[in-house]
Amino acid sequence: MKKVRASLGTLAVLGMELMIMDAPPTTAYLQIYTNEHCRANCLFCSQAKESKGELKHIARGQYMPADLDEVVRRLGIAFEKGYLHRACIQTAMYPGMWNDTTYLVREIIKTCSIPISLSVFPLEDAKYNELNGLGVEQLVIPLDAATPELFDRIKGAGAGGPFTWDNHIDGLKRAVRIFTNVGTHIIIGLGETDEDAIELAGRFHKGGIGSALFAYTRLPGTRWVDTEPDIGHYRRVQLALYLIREDLVSFENMKFNNGIIMDFGLDGPGMEAVISSGEAFMTTGCSHCNRPYATETHAMVYNYPGPVEGSEITRIKAQLEVNNGI
Ligand code: SF4
Repeated sequence: MKKVRASLGTLAVLGMELMIMDAPPTTAYLQIYTNEHCRANCLFCSQAKESKGELKHIARGQYMPADLDEVVRRLGIAFEKGYLHRACIQTAMYPGMWNDTTYLVREIIKTCSIPISLSVFPLEDAKYNELNGLGVEQLVIPLDAATPELFDRIKGAGAGGPFTWDNHIDGLKRAVRIFTNVGTHIIIGLGETDEDAIELAGRFHKGGIGSALFAYTRLPGTRWVDTEPDIGHYRRVQLALYLIREDLVSFENMKFNNGIIMDFGLDGPGMEAVISSGEAFMTTGCSHCNRPYATETHAMVYNYPGPVEGSEITRIKAQLEVNNGI
């Protein structure tokens, strides 16, 4: 039996697990299957070479091995019925990665026309062209860390890993020339400032690269990054990135002091309207990616998987400290 990993929420939507969910995923979250640790060594990752964590974890998500044929068959039905709008394939670095990835992409495309996102480390152009030709709709190269120094410490040589900042940036730039939709992941809470994350995402926005925000989640068995995510920082970055994404304000029109954003570049009523709509605080990334509980608990929601309710807006305003001059 050929296997694929699928998140528990995905398996529930596919009818392969019984779960009560307050927020079902609108994207199918899959990962190619291996029982080996990844050859890369990112500090935060449960699957890293030197991690003692469980292979099933991606952030808080649990990706369970399942029958690939059955997952793909049910994915076709769920797409047709409108339960799932995208398939997201996460990869890992191991010798069979390319064959396993292209096999899964082909099987999905044979079954239905659901848009596919593929999250993968930088590959050569020939492989990008092949993936694009197969029908991968969005290519995502997770940068994760917002500065070259943090990248090196968390994903690169400092972590005993193979990745470099320059190669990831180059991979993103090359991908933009080949794919219509390109994105990256930025983890907030690794030691970056507001300005670091906002400047990077602003630059990517200009270059046609979307940024999906994640909250750093320390997983059992992973090595210590030595930081804790701060909700005020997370909310400020979310809000600024929304303004940039919607072309309401550019990074150059925002003001910072010691890395902390002091002026979002929008007047009071404008800010009130944006914050109150709640949209800025919803999950970002590929279209229809809502990642319920990927990095959240019931007590702490970083990314809202659906529209944000009134009482949550009040809580968000307190987290943003809007009454203290922001
Ligand atoms: S943004 Fe969402 S759908 Fe896109 S690659 Fe990341 S997790 Fe997958």
